[in-house]
Amino acid sequence: NNDTTTITKQDGINGIKSWDEDTGLIPRLQIVDENQLFTENLPSYMEKWSLAEAGFQYNVVAVFGSQSTGKSTLLNRLFGTSFDVMDENQRSQTTKGIWMSRGRGMHVLVMDVEGTDGRERGEDQDFERKSALFSMATSEVIILNLWEHQVGLYQGANMGLLKTVFEVNLQLFQNQKGKEKTLILIVIRDHVGATPLENLAKTIQADLEKIWESLPKPEGLEDCKIHDYFDFMFTGLPHKILLPEKFDEEVAVLRHRFNDPKNPNYVFRPQYHKRIPADGYHVYASSIWDKVLSNKDLDLPTQQELLAQYRCDEISNTAFERFTERITPFKTPILEKAQTIPDLGKQMQEIRSEALEAFDKNASRYHKGVYEKKRKEMLVKLNTQLNVFFVGQLKNLHKKAITMFEENLKVELKKPSYNFAEIVDSCLKEANSLFTTGAKEKLNMYSLLITFFLGLLDMVLADTDWSYTHEHSQLEEDFAKVSAQARADEFKKMSKQLAKQVENELSEPVSLQLNNPNEKIWHNIIEAYKETVEHGQKTLVDKAKSFNSSDDELEESILGLKRQAWLVLRKKVDEELADNMLLLKLRSRFEEKFRYDEHGLPRVWKPEDDIDSYFRKARDEALTLIPLFSKINLSDDEGFDIESDEDFDFKHSLTILTEAKQIDITNRFKRESDAFYLEAKRSVVSTTAK
Ligand code: GDP
Ligand code: MG
Repeated sequence: NNDTTTITKQDGINGIKSWDEDTGLIPRLQIVDENQLFTENLPSYMEKWSLAEAGFQYNVVAVFGSQSTGKSTLLNRLFGTSFDVMDENQRSQTTKGIWMSRGRGMHVLVMDVEGTDGRERGEDQDFERKSALFSMATSEVIILNLWEHQVGLYQGANMGLLKTVFEVNLQLFQNQKGKEKTLILIVIRDHVGATPLENLAKTIQADLEKIWESLPKPEGLEDCKIHDYFDFMFTGLPHKILLPEKFDEEVAVLRHRFNDPKNPNYVFRPQYHKRIPADGYHVYASSIWDKVLSNKDLDLPTQQELLAQYRCDEISNTAFERFTERITPFKTPILEKAQTIPDLGKQMQEIRSEALEAFDKNASRYHKGVYEKKRKEMLVKLNTQLNVFFVGQLKNLHKKAITMFEENLKVELKKPSYNFAEIVDSCLKEANSLFTTGAKEKLNMYSLLITFFLGLLDMVLADTDWSYTHEHSQLEEDFAKVSAQARADEFKKMSKQLAKQVENELSEPVSLQLNNPNEKIWHNIIEAYKETVEHGQKTLVDKAKSFNSSDDELEESILGLKRQAWLVLRKKVDEELADNMLLLKLRSRFEEKFRYDEHGLPRVWKPEDDIDSYFRKARDEALTLIPLFSKINLSDDEGFDIESDEDFDFKHSLTILTEAKQIDITNRFKRESDAFYLEAKRSVVSTTAK
């Protein structure tokens, strides 16, 4: 096929060659075969033709006309295609069906519709009608090919075909409001020139009007005009065989009208464009053919919406796959390792934008309503995925903030001097004020808190209903809990210290008093107690400032201190007056009186000594300690009292030795002292015996 040789080879989109390297021919595809099946290969051919990514930057033209009127010849010349041309010698009919190829050096899909001339041969006109419907719905420009001698033959085959074209067009567009016009370019072949083109055009126009008027119009469209649907252009071509050079010249001129938008007769005007993005053309074309075959009403707007739905879903899925790949790396750190990603929000924003942009790039060319709806769906889907990480990050940040808060508090509390309330208060306040002023650079122990909040701020994406208010208040609650716990711990620590202090201060005086018993011991012990309590109270008042205690709280602590100190005192007393200790005290008092004289020298009993009365006196004196010790005597400390409650009974605590205990100790002591008496007696006997 040498018809293509006159056309310069040109590249396709993006410099990709759209013709076969070996043959130099642009591949062609039978999109509808003789069995009326639609091809599966259109997507791959769109790739081969480098048109798959063309968006709206491509045009579609189809040719109509009787069999053997030189249609394929003309297409090959105009577009550099290689459609089959009938062999001069065999004059056999070429294959039925619809063929497609792309124009060399032009973003044009060219459809060669094989005429059947069913009318002339008495065959069925079914295919003719179907292919007319199909081309009408998918092409911007229809080339109508006819011989000059057919012009004016109203009953001729071409007119019959035109009638079909008009009818199907009315059927196609009856539901469409903003209908696109289709351009019908009428090419008069073997135009001799005797009758000027204008006259031929007039004749044809008149015939067209007549045909239009005779058509039954659908309801509501009774008054519609042919020019509401079609624009017409006319051109003539000289006889190819008789005037080959002239023919070539005119074809070149005609080609110019297909590839030069500046040409005043340019055919691919934007208003004819069917607005089917190139990446959806195959879906659209095949679904139109399905509709044509099933003979249903071919409602183009619905078809375009269906196409938009199908394609937008496909595009959305592709974008979503990529999106999933991009967010997967967040999974392990956030959801498994409980880490936080500082600029998570920014990254999510980027990844989401990327997905949306990928979607918009291809999907925005489709039906606006459908595209917008699908975009919203996609956004929801993306946000749902991202929300998992948002929530995860929140949780991790929360945990981190609490831990940090606890640790920092610990560090601060280890310092030699601090004010607890101030520490807690200042840190939270500072965190908040830093948060609001956004002074990130001021790194202190609460910088993490700030990072936390800033991290949240940047995590909340536009177009979401995400919020961290709940998380924020939860965090504040937890901070409060942590500081309350820390405060309680501090309190415990302080109480312990205080208890020790009290014990240290009280032990000695109590012990001293009880080991040198006299009438004043209880008064002295109470004095020591008061002094100790006073010291403790001073500590408490100091601490109260640090703990930001209320007056009530302080009062309660002081009462606690008094009771505790009292218990310490009582314990010490009990220790000192435990049975053996008490007996020891009695004995030493007894011995002091019985075995030593008033000068503190050991007595040596003489026979004339009244051992009995010495003994009785010493014993009675020792026994006076029992009533002294058995009850804390407050007669010198009138009004001294410590508030009692169910756990602390002051009055009761004054009793040290019960009646029974007193009797028991008295008896035991008496027995013990008897031994001394006997010993004294014996010592006299032995001295006298010498
Ligand atoms: P189609 O069936 O309409 O596609 O016609 P073809 O392109 O296959 O051509 C049919 C025959 O007409 C071939 O033998 C061509 O050589 C011949 N032919 C092509 N162009 C012209 C023309 O402009 N004038 C005449 N008279 N014959 C032509
Ligand atoms: Mg042909």
